[in-house]
Amino acid sequence: MQKRIVIIGAGATGLGAAFRLYEKGHLNWSIYERCDRIGGLASSFTDKEGFTWDLGRHVISSQYPYFNRFVHLLLRDRLLERAQQARVYLLDKWVPYPFQNNIHHLPPPQVLECLLGLYKAQSTPNTSTNFSEWVTWLFGPGIANLFLLPYNSKIWGDQIDTLDRGWVTEKIGTASFERILRNIVLNMDDIGSGSCSTYQYPSSGGIGGLFQAIVPLIRKNLVLSAPLSSIDTESRTLHFENGAENTYDTMISTIPIDRLVSLIRPKRHTLIQSARMLHYRSIQTVGVGLEKPAVDTCGGWAYFPESDLPFYRVTSLPHISPAMVPEGDTARYSSFLCEIPCRQKAAEHAGPVTEQAVAGLERCGLIDGKDRQAIVSTWGTTVEYAYPVPSIDRDRALASLHPALARMGIFSRGRFGSWRYEIGDMDHSVMMGVEAVDRILEGSSEPTAGFRAGTTPVQA
Ligand SMILES: Cc1cc2nc3c(=O)[nH]c(=O)nc-3n(C[C@H](O)[C@H](O)[C@H](O)COP(=O)(O)OP(=O)(O)OC[C@H]3O[C@@H](n4cnc5c(N)ncnc54)[C@H](O)[C@@H]3O)c2cc1C
Repeated sequence: MQKRIVIIGAGATGLGAAFRLYEKGHLNWSIYERCDRIGGLASSFTDKEGFTWDLGRHVISSQYPYFNRFVHLLLRDRLLERAQQARVYLLDKWVPYPFQNNIHHLPPPQVLECLLGLYKAQSTPNTSTNFSEWVTWLFGPGIANLFLLPYNSKIWGDQIDTLDRGWVTEKIGTASFERILRNIVLNMDDIGSGSCSTYQYPSSGGIGGLFQAIVPLIRKNLVLSAPLSSIDTESRTLHFENGAENTYDTMISTIPIDRLVSLIRPKRHTLIQSARMLHYRSIQTVGVGLEKPAVDTCGGWAYFPESDLPFYRVTSLPHISPAMVPEGDTARYSSFLCEIPCRQKAAEHAGPVTEQAVAGLERCGLIDGKDRQAIVSTWGTTVEYAYPVPSIDRDRALASLHPALARMGIFSRGRFGSWRYEIGDMDHSVMMGVEAVDRILEGSSEPTAGFRAGTTPVQA
């Protein structure tokens, strides 16, 4: 008899696991999704005017050969390849990204401040204990205070002081004094090289178009509109809001781990306490569609560290894919997707932010006063679980949660299932799903989540 495997959540992680089970020819499994559609955070919505919106800017860029094959298999010739040309908007200038490589775009006093700070940082011993100290040590106070700290304060809010430093190199990169000096002296733009300088995107359907092609492969195992409501871990029985039940030998849960432990019956107070040590940040996304040709000022998307602008990132969607505007007609239509941070749980009580977003677009010059009449569509939504906070306490909480869950036959994986921002992208998520299946079926390690074969978190 084959092991009964149940996956909860049909986002990137759950779909990665489902695809692997399909690939391995395993038959005894199901995937349950709360919503009436698949995709989770990597979903897209087309409004009645014909504009398509993602839940925040999502592009594909990966160094995993398996994930890249997966993307090609699903999208085949529907995959666009793009050069990364992002910008940072600061002091009324559009500085190419990565910021540290392109400070020659700043006024001379700020160039000097950044360069001197970086020079001194190179010879200062590393005594940092948290994120803010780490970036100041690595990049110097000029680059840290102008961009990295204000930008990260916008995303992480009052959590910035609790951030660990372990994820910095993966997400922010490093700084080379010689390279930065060369770019200043030669007045040369430097957007980096390697896999980070390009990205991919589905040619239609927004980022959600990536995962739609998986549906025919897993249709008979997929149950939509089925929120999990409780888990009896003694009988390994799952209860759903519609009254349905199912049993599992092993469950791959991709829902936020704090929600997961709240569903366990009988209640496990020590797990609930550990989960309280975990924090997250929410965002509001605002889409603004215009009947006006698309002009690329911000290089596809831009980062906004300054506090007088409400968003931390704005994306010119037609520059990622023309299909994001009605009939793909970029000579007639343009659109911007604004991501606005808000505190955990605060988003649903926040007022409408569309006006703030439009005023912000005017303030930085992405649209001008006359363009207000050209707005033909606005769209907005709240993403409650958007950023898992990589706080100093996080790993202590996870070290007690994962082994306890594994003893109940539960693998908690994915952006909020693992609660690890540094492995929180779509490729990491798909790979966590794939590797969890390999572990369940073959006992192999999970390199992405960092669980070695035979270690406690998997002794289910
Ligand atoms: C603003 C933003 C920008 C991003 N940009 C990028 C990017 O450019 N590139 C990139 O690679 N990644 C990006 N990501 C990360 C990417 O979205 C995630 O890696 C990925 O979508 C996470 O997939 P997941 O399956 O782990 O989680 P989710 O997508 O959250 O999936 C979990 C699923 O579980 C379901 N669920 C929840 N509760 C229940 C329940 N009780 N019962 C049943 N189902 C339930 C949810 O509906 C959801 O479908 C971004 C994320 C955000 C928030």
